Amino acid sequence: MFKSTQSLFYRNRCLIVVFTALGLLFASTVKADSGLKPVTLQLQWHHQFQFAGYYAALAKGFYEEAGLEVTIKDGGYDNNGRAILPEAEVLFNRAQFGSTRTDLLINHSQGVPFVVLANIMQHSPFIFLTTDQFNFKRLEDIGTQRPISLNLPGSGDQRIDAEAIAALKVAGVNLTKLNNHFPTWELDDLLAGHTQLAPAYSTDEPYFVKKAGQIPVVIQPRDYGIDFYGDLLFTRQSMLDKQPEIVKKFRTASIKGWKYAMEHTDEIAELILKNYATRNEAYDKDFLIYEAEKIKELMNSDVIEIGYINKERWQKIAEIYQSLGLISDVNLDSFLYNPEPVNQWESYKHWLQLLIIPFLIAAGIIWYLFSLTMALKREILKRQEAEKTLKNQAELDSLTGISNRYVFQQNLEKEFARARRYQQPFSLMIMDIDLFKEVNDNYGHQAGDEVLRSLARVTKDLLRNSDLFARYGGEEFVVLLPSTSLSETLYLAKRILHTNRHNAVVYNDLNIRYTISIGVTEILDSDTTVEDVFKRSDDLLYDAKDAGRDCIRLGSASSA
Ligand code: GH3
Ligand code: MG
Ligand code: MG
Repeated sequence: MFKSTQSLFYRNRCLIVVFTALGLLFASTVKADSGLKPVTLQLQWHHQFQFAGYYAALAKGFYEEAGLEVTIKDGGYDNNGRAILPEAEVLFNRAQFGSTRTDLLINHSQGVPFVVLANIMQHSPFIFLTTDQFNFKRLEDIGTQRPISLNLPGSGDQRIDAEAIAALKVAGVNLTKLNNHFPTWELDDLLAGHTQLAPAYSTDEPYFVKKAGQIPVVIQPRDYGIDFYGDLLFTRQSMLDKQPEIVKKFRTASIKGWKYAMEHTDEIAELILKNYATRNEAYDKDFLIYEAEKIKELMNSDVIEIGYINKERWQKIAEIYQSLGLISDVNLDSFLYNPEPVNQWESYKHWLQLLIIPFLIAAGIIWYLFSLTMALKREILKRQEAEKTLKNQAELDSLTGISNRYVFQQNLEKEFARARRYQQPFSLMIMDIDLFKEVNDNYGHQAGDEVLRSLARVTKDLLRNSDLFARYGGEEFVVLLPSTSLSETLYLAKRILHTNRHNAVVYNDLNIRYTISIGVTEILDSDTTVEDVFKRSDDLLYDAKDAGRDCIRLGSASSA
C-alpha cells in the first residue's frame, strides 16, 4: 500500500521539517533566555476528565509551589474549524508543553525534536466503536460494503490512527477495499447509521451511546495484540536544552496533580464543571465520573507509577510503526525524557551544535541526493519484510516473550471446534501467582517483573511443544493442552506447582520465593461455548485460592 512516491513525499516533508526545526533552533539560541516562568500547556481535546491531573496541579497550587504560572489551553477546533494540534502549538512555541498520543513518534522520526516527558496513560483509550444494531463484533467482519469512518492513509486528515491500521492488518483486513470515509467525531453519525464503525475513546463515546438508548460494541486494538500508550505529556528538545529545571518542575508538579486527581475524582470533577468550559452540557458530572473510572483503568497506577516511561515498550511500539511504513529509523534516546540532571557535556553540546549544524546541512543534502534511489529500494524491501513480522510481534507478550492473550483466545476457539468435530478431548489449566501484590510491595515492581519472567521460563521448560502456554494478563497464565486427558494434565500441573514452589528468583542479591494456585479442567459434553470451559477452570482456580493457595483444584476432586 505504500508506494515509493509516498516514501519520496515523506522524505521531502521530512527535509522541510528538519530545516524548519533547525531554523527555529538557530533563532531560539540567538535570543536571550527570558526566565520562562509563565508556561502554557496545550491539550488535544476539549476540557474533560482526560486532563484532570493538570487542573488539579493548578488548583492545588502544585505549579505555583514549583514557581510556575501555568495556562491550560483546551483543544478541539479553532475559529476556522481547523483541528488544534498540540504538536504545532509546541513546535511554534505558542505552548511549551502539550498532551497528545503516541503518534508523536511519527513527528519525531521525521526530525521534529519532540521529547516525551511522561506516559500518563499506560494503555491507549483508542477503540473502534460500533453498536449492536450493525451486527458485527470483529474487524474481520467489516467487509467491503458497510460505511465506516477511520483515519486511514488517504482519508484526508493530517492524522492517521496507527493503532487502527495495525489492528486491521493483524485482522487481515485489506485497507484499500474498505468503504471508508473521513471521521467527523460526531456520535450522531454512528447512532443514525451514516457510519457503522467509528474511532472513539473508551473513556468517552460508549457512555453516550448507552445514554442514547443503544448498545455500544467496542473492539479494542488490544484484542489484536496492539497495545500502545495513551495520553502523554511532551515538550520540544530546545525547551529541555535551555530550561531543564522548568521542564523538570513542570513534569513533577503535573504528576503530583495526576496523583491527586485520581485520589479525589469527585472533587476534580466538580472543579472541571466550575472552572472549565466542557464540550457541551452533556459532559456533566455523571459523565466525568464515568470518564474518571475508565481513565483509572488505563493509567493502571496501582501497579505502575504515574508517568513511567518504559523504553522496551516504546521500542515495540516503534517497530509496529515501522512495519506499517509510518516511520523509518528512530532514536528513542532523544525521544524519551531522562529525569537525570544535565551533565557538563550538555552545556557544551549546545555550542557544538551551532558549529556542526551548517556542516551537517551541506553533508546531508549531498547524502540525500546520492542515497535516495538506494534507500528507496532498501525501504521497499524492508517494509515487505516488516509487514510479515508484524503478525509475529502482535502475538508475543512483551515482558515474558511467551504467547499473549490474543493468541490464547484464538487457539482456545480452534481447539474447541476441533474437539467437537473429532471427539478429541483437551484440557485447560489456569494459574495465578499467590499474593503477588506482596512481592511488588516488598521488593518493588521491577522485582515483580523478574518473577513473572522466571515463572514463564521454568514453566515453559516443563511443557511439550504441542501445549500452548500464554500470559493471560497480569500475573495470570494459561496452558492449553490438546488431546490430553485430565489425569495427564494433573500430573503436569503437579510438576508445575512443585517447580514454581522451589524456584528462587534472583533479583539484586535477593532470593525471591513464590507459590502459585492452579485450576484444571477438560472439555465436557455439556459445554456449549469456550466460555463454559474457561469459566470452570477459573472457578476452580478461585477454589484453590479459597483452600489456602499453593494447590491445585480439578473438577470437583482435589489434589496436591
Ligand atoms: P491472590 O493470591 O489472591 O492472587 O493475591 P494477589 O496479590 O496475587 O492478587 P491480586 O489480583 O489482588 O493482585 C495481583 C497483583 O499483580 C496486582 C499487581 O500489583 C500485580 N501485577 C499485575 N501485573 C503485573 C506486572 O506486569 N508486573 C508486576 N510487577 N506486577 C503486576
Ligand atoms: Mg494473584
Ligand atoms: Mg490475579
